[in-house]
Amino acid sequence: MSNPFDLSGRVAVITGANTGIGQGIAHALAQAGASIVAVGRSSMDETRQLVEKAKVPFVEIKADLGTIAPVSTIIEETAKSLGRLDILVNNAGIIRRNDAIDFTEEDWDVVMDTNLKSAFFLSQAAARHMIENRSGKIINIASLLSFQGGIRIPSYTASKSGLAGITRLLACEWAGRGINVNAIAPGYFVTNNTTALREDQERSAQILARIPAGRWGEPSDIGGAAVFLASHASDYVHGTVLPVDGGWLAR
Ligand code: NAP
Repeated sequence: MSNPFDLSGRVAVITGANTGIGQGIAHALAQAGASIVAVGRSSMDETRQLVEKAKVPFVEIKADLGTIAPVSTIIEETAKSLGRLDILVNNAGIIRRNDAIDFTEEDWDVVMDTNLKSAFFLSQAAARHMIENRSGKIINIASLLSFQGGIRIPSYTASKSGLAGITRLLACEWAGRGINVNAIAPGYFVTNNTTALREDQERSAQILARIPAGRWGEPSDIGGAAVFLASHASDYVHGTVLPVDGGWLAR
């Protein structure tokens, strides 16, 4: 039997692939054989080097996902440069921290637009392409805040809870059309997103004490789940939000 996790010949679009979790996913999908389209607003040089070591094609698309303006270009450029689109990973995301009582409209809108609105409309554009082939995999990067409330991150919690809901809705609409829509909920990972938390020694120690695995996640910890949800191994998995959290939610 052929390897159900093999991604040879597939084309994967990953947003926010220059660093952190997005880079970890790009690296893992490339190692499983997928061609990589790295989408974002910063230089992808580091990711390019990692992907090219896996000897698969790499394409970079510059796009600011703070609005949905670049959505159609991303899909068109992908089809033009690599001829197909099999996997979309909606990873680009931001966080704004402030007490709910002081939270501004700007901090609400920018997070919701980047984390939720762009992910939805990019999924829509990708799905129009995937439906023609009756085949595709969409993976949303959710969060523990898709399950929990948290503190001082109202728009982040709203966006990630919304992303879990949209994951389920799209799965219901598109499962019968050959597209798997699922999400990964990372726990606490060492990336730019958590710099402020890790610099707060008290908060950082409290978080670590609650993680059954006894350590924060590294971007390389996320790759296996992404390969699973991008591959034939997950063909009957629809609308799930898979925690990769060192056991945080189990506690
Ligand atoms: P990160 O290092 O800050 O990565 C965020 C990525 O999103 C970067 O590539 C960033 O690009 C990109 N991005 C942000 N705004 C963008 C925009 N307007 N247009 C295009 N790209 C944009 O943090 P990370 O932890 O790897 O975050 C990746 C995803 O995982 C996010 O959705 C985050 O919410 C989620 N997540 C992280 C954790 C964690 O513990 N770290 C936990 C749960 C979920 P720039 O580098 O150019 O800013």
